[in-house]
Amino acid sequence: MSYKLFIPGPVAVSERTLRAMTRPMIGHRSADFISLYRGLTAPLQQLFGTQNSVYLASSSAWGVMEGALRNVVQKKVLCCMNGAFSDKWLDVARRCGLEAAGLPFAWGQPVDPEALRTELAKGGYDAVTLIHNETSCGCLSDLPALANVLREFPAVISIVDTVSSFSAMPLNQDALGLDLVLSGSQKALALPPGLTVLSVSPRALARAATTPARGYYFDLVEFEKNHVGGMTPSTPVIPLIYALQSKLEDIAAEGLEPRFARHRRLNQMVRAWGSTKGFGLFPRVGHGSVTLNCFANTPGVDLVALNTKLKVRGFVVDGGYGKLKGATFRISNMGDETDATMAELLAALDEVLRELKI
Ligand SMILES: *Cc1c(COP(=O)(O)O)cnc(C)c1O
Repeated sequence: MSYKLFIPGPVAVSERTLRAMTRPMIGHRSADFISLYRGLTAPLQQLFGTQNSVYLASSSAWGVMEGALRNVVQKKVLCCMNGAFSDKWLDVARRCGLEAAGLPFAWGQPVDPEALRTELAKGGYDAVTLIHNETSCGCLSDLPALANVLREFPAVISIVDTVSSFSAMPLNQDALGLDLVLSGSQKALALPPGLTVLSVSPRALARAATTPARGYYFDLVEFEKNHVGGMTPSTPVIPLIYALQSKLEDIAAEGLEPRFARHRRLNQMVRAWGSTKGFGLFPRVGHGSVTLNCFANTPGVDLVALNTKLKVRGFVVDGGYGKLKGATFRISNMGDETDATMAELLAALDEVLRELKI
């Protein structure tokens, strides 16, 4: 059975992107690869809003999320937690044997800048982890407000996950003074999973260079050394790099502002649909994501039955992440979706809800 994913990652991948992946392999130390790699830097820098080097890591986002910790944490990391991915980051830090503390908020609540300031002011921290858009509960934190706080603590290296917001909304790493920003391929970029892009400040690189047990595979110093030569430290996932090249062309053709506007519009369209059906947003008002909607399942719809019926019509949505399974459901509007494709999904959902007598 074939069906289209409207879950918040992986999302549907276009035919054009899939075709790009089928190009013949090239050697990763060849002039052809160097030219491919170098061509990606400027468009990626534009998406990050940075002059920093942008590296390509052949792993899902967690590889870099773990690797970043191992590179920059020498004393203690503070993990801002407001959902499944940000909660997990604390666990990952501890599994790496690092000193780590959590700054917890209820799922669906944004990271509070005042609470961040109060905790960092206690001292002892040399790094912070932060998720811009907590995909598990569709909650967007106020990155500029948090960046303002981080600026008061120059010894603290910031590690920011923009996995589900990257390229869908404005990001200005340099203006915000963020150190290490990363994003995965299968969310807002609408590529298959397996590639992570990361932009690293000179400050974070300098820290990494003095961190002894930073490992090899995600060693930022190795990434920088190879980046200068237009290459990656080890053999990269070349088909996904072809796909990224193709996607960056798509993004340039659409234009950044129209792309941001499309995500906002489609997001509002789904949100408005939800509210007519009695589904309120789960995250705090004013902090709903622009790339997905996480709805509270207040009417108590059987979400397993809903997805079973929806799949027959060619679509899948998400029935809630982790402890929110059944209590919330999530609809993604990331990637290449249009007014028409979202309308098709909502029409199918209307039919299913009628069948379920909602
Ligand atoms: C999906 C996601 C991740 C994890 O990505 P993997 O590709 O599974 O490693 C991390 N952070 C956020 C915000 C995500 O949405």
